[in-house]
Amino acid sequence: MKILSVASEVFPLIKTGGLADVAGALPLALAGHGMHMRTLMPGYPVVMQRLAKSEVVATFDDLLGEPARILAAKHEGLDILVLDAPGFFDRPGGPYTDATAKDFPDNWRRFAALSLAGAEIARGLLFGWRPDIVHAHDWQAAMTAVYMRYTGLQHIPTVITVHNLAFQGQFGPEIFPELGLPPDAFSVDGLEYYGDVGFLKGGLRTAWSITTVSPTYAQEITTPEYGMGLEGLINARAADLDGIVNGIDTAVWNPETDPHIARPFAAGSLKKRAVNRQALVERFNLDDDDGPIFCIVSRLTWQKGIDIIAEVADWIVQQGGKLAVLGSGDQGLEGALLAAASRHRGRIGIVIGYNEPLSHLMQAGSDAILIPSRFEPCGLTQLYGLRYGCIPIVARTGGLADTVIDANEAALSARVATGFQFTPINADGLRQALRRVFKAYAEPKVWARIQNQGMKSDVSWENSAARYAELYSSLLAKV
Ligand code: ADP
Repeated sequence: MKILSVASEVFPLIKTGGLADVAGALPLALAGHGMHMRTLMPGYPVVMQRLAKSEVVATFDDLLGEPARILAAKHEGLDILVLDAPGFFDRPGGPYTDATAKDFPDNWRRFAALSLAGAEIARGLLFGWRPDIVHAHDWQAAMTAVYMRYTGLQHIPTVITVHNLAFQGQFGPEIFPELGLPPDAFSVDGLEYYGDVGFLKGGLRTAWSITTVSPTYAQEITTPEYGMGLEGLINARAADLDGIVNGIDTAVWNPETDPHIARPFAAGSLKKRAVNRQALVERFNLDDDDGPIFCIVSRLTWQKGIDIIAEVADWIVQQGGKLAVLGSGDQGLEGALLAAASRHRGRIGIVIGYNEPLSHLMQAGSDAILIPSRFEPCGLTQLYGLRYGCIPIVARTGGLADTVIDANEAALSARVATGFQFTPINADGLRQALRRVFKAYAEPKVWARIQNQGMKSDVSWENSAARYAELYSSLLAKV
């Protein structure tokens, strides 16, 4: 089976969040199921630099206003198709924002172009390779399904995966004539969304199948609380909606071989974690005592509940805990954490920025990872935590609820607990959970048992890849 995946970021070429991890890992996991996935992505400057060798496989004189080419390349086991369109992608800044973190004003055109290129590949643009199925990720690729639906490719199955419903790609109606679609695409059955053009909305309306990245989030987004205005549409499509939990790349995230940590370790040699803990203490200028170290590796945003952390930070320190934070994001939240760190030198350490190697050391050296997200489609950092003996303390929502087994009395005595969940998702809820955490931490045997049970959890892509493979097969059976 041949599958075209369309994504705006793909690890290890470029990453701003979990989408990249999924887009980079799924093709490798599917290969074991006899499926060949090629991935179309934008040719941002870092992507062009990182691809050693590539071959031009298609050209466009005018792709929504810019000349463009498609380059084929192999990268760390991935079969990549790069949309090389300098007018859209060769510019400083991140994938979506300029150097001042402002969205590029032409994002609609950039990602419509990516999607249109995906639809053209489905039409047979590439010599000798045409996908049986097209799988688009998030709003940046959602238009692939729309272009396919309205340009005569509705017979090819499409899947759209929602990694985060908060990002919808909504633009003014004035862009519609620029998209090169027939007028009926601007309707309730297509792109029209409260008078605007909704890229994700159009994808959710037109794709054959919708998936999101955990069963709980799949259920949550049918409700007004989590549906971000799209719950009506998602409800109407409930029969085509599936929740498939993400896996992680267990070769990249392997505590026995991880090159980014101070000392490798395994479930049977948890004592060796102490060397990583020591390295972390030094990196974050923390006091070298026995109190638990809680880490946070996250975008620093309201979604991630970082304001809750800021509110509870003083209390955590009073209880004898320490905090090590790696992340960047909202300036107000960064400021609140930096202020807490200056109040509590030696107890709270912060590194503002994005640092992949350091994120590994944090999982290897911290005692627990705090994830108080207000909503969390899947979440990856709790999965890394499970694998690294860094006990996840999570809000009971979305994928966090699906992947961490709370250490309540029953789960502890059945020896299945892997972490701590809390609700309500606010400072009181978190404090309540942390009381249980401090108690468990004071009993090293209990703590080690939770660590060990977590390390036994299956966080690989194995099961999830099988679910995607089943979904693709069931869609093909309908053709
Ligand atoms: P989201 O995609 O919503 O940001 P996820 O938990 O799904 O959240 O994925 C976040 C990914 O980004 C994880 O792989 C996490 O380790 C990584 N990450 C987040 N912030 C940082 C950072 N400051 N430095 C390094 N890695 C980070």
